[in-house]
Order: sequence, then C-alpha cells, then structure tokens
Amino acid sequence: MGPEHVGTELAEVLIDEPTLTGRIQQLANSLAADYEGERVLFVGVLKGAVMFMADLARAMPCSVEMDFMSVSSYGYGTQSSGVVRIMKDLDIPLEGRHVVLVEDIIDSGLTLSWLLRTLSARHPASLEVCALLRKREALQVELDIKYVGFDIPNAFVVGYGLDYAERFRNLSVIATLDPANATTAG
Ligand code: 5GP
Repeated sequence: MGPEHVGTELAEVLIDEPTLTGRIQQLANSLAADYEGERVLFVGVLKGAVMFMADLARAMPCSVEMDFMSVSSYGYGTQSSGVVRIMKDLDIPLEGRHVVLVEDIIDSGLTLSWLLRTLSARHPASLEVCALLRKREALQVELDIKYVGFDIPNAFVVGYGLDYAERFRNLSVIATLDPANATTAG
C-alpha cells in the first residue's frame, strides 16, 4: 500500500520508503559488527514490529534466529499504562542467548520497560533493544536503547506495521494520521 492516502486520512509522510530502507541497512550493519561471531536471536513483538523485523533480518549479512511474542497492554485509548499481559509467549528459551528485542515504536517506554524486566528474568547472555521509532518527548522512564532508527515528534503515526484500529499496517511509509478524517473502517 503506497502513500496515496496522504491528503485524505493521513496528514503527511514522515519517513518515506528509501529512507526506511537505508536506515534499516545501517542498523543491520551495526548489529552485524557488534554481534560478529555470535548466535543472535531477534525477538519481535507482534504485530507492529513484523515489517521492521522482516526487513531488518533480511538486511543482516549473517544468519539470525527469529521468534515472536504477543502482549496486550492495558491503558486508556491510545495511552499505555505499563500493565502488560503475555498473550503469546516465545517458543525459544532465552537462557544464555544474545537477544535483540526488536520494537516498532517506543512511546512512554512503559511497555518496553516491562518487557525488559520480563525477558531479563529468563537470564539471556545479553539483551539489547533495537527500536525503529522513538518519541523522545513521550519517554516516561529512563531506558537504555542501544539501536534507534528514528527519533520522531510526539504525534500518532501509522504504517510499516503500525496501525490505527488494525488499518494501515501494510502502508509502505510511516505517516501521521489526520484524526479528523481517519475512520476505523477500511
Ligand atoms: P509505550 O508503552 O511505549 O507507551 O507504548 C508502546 C506501544 O504503543 C507500541 O508498541 C505501539 O503498539 C503503541 N504506540 C505508541 N505510539 C504509537 C503511535 O504513534 N502509533 C501507533 N500505531 N501505535 C503506537
């Protein structure tokens, strides 16, 4: 799905496809250098991180393993509360593994903070975060995020895995939503 919805439901394209591709290749190069000679496990959080995880893994020059988990966070509307429940757990045990948690977007950081505590308790050899997007102003907790694709303004964004009521996940760009014009029906 291309950016032709911009101007109707979507306000503007924040990050276009070539920019996403280029930055993801840079992140993959950094990861490959940092984990040279190691067996790396990418852990993705469904569903938002799927596109990023798939492209990041394909941009890696070496073999990586991939696993997914699904969590539901309880909050009000678009606000995260930090209270999280695992809906689908990982298949692969983390003990002794070099784990990279692949995240779509860090907003308040509350979900990530909970995930890091939960995954650390499984005793991985190492645990780092690779997030495509970060809203710096929204961060409510101090988090050590080693790999960040883009710092973005504090606006609601969709596309490239991120949804608005399950829509726009297959948009090939990151765009801001126009709340006045967006509908929840496809
Ligand atoms: P946090 O706990 O960091 O506040 O929330 C993180 C989660 O909230 C993300 O994984 C994502 O599911 C959702 N989220 C936060 N900001 C946005 C946004 O701008 N757009 C979309 N579609 N989801 C967001």
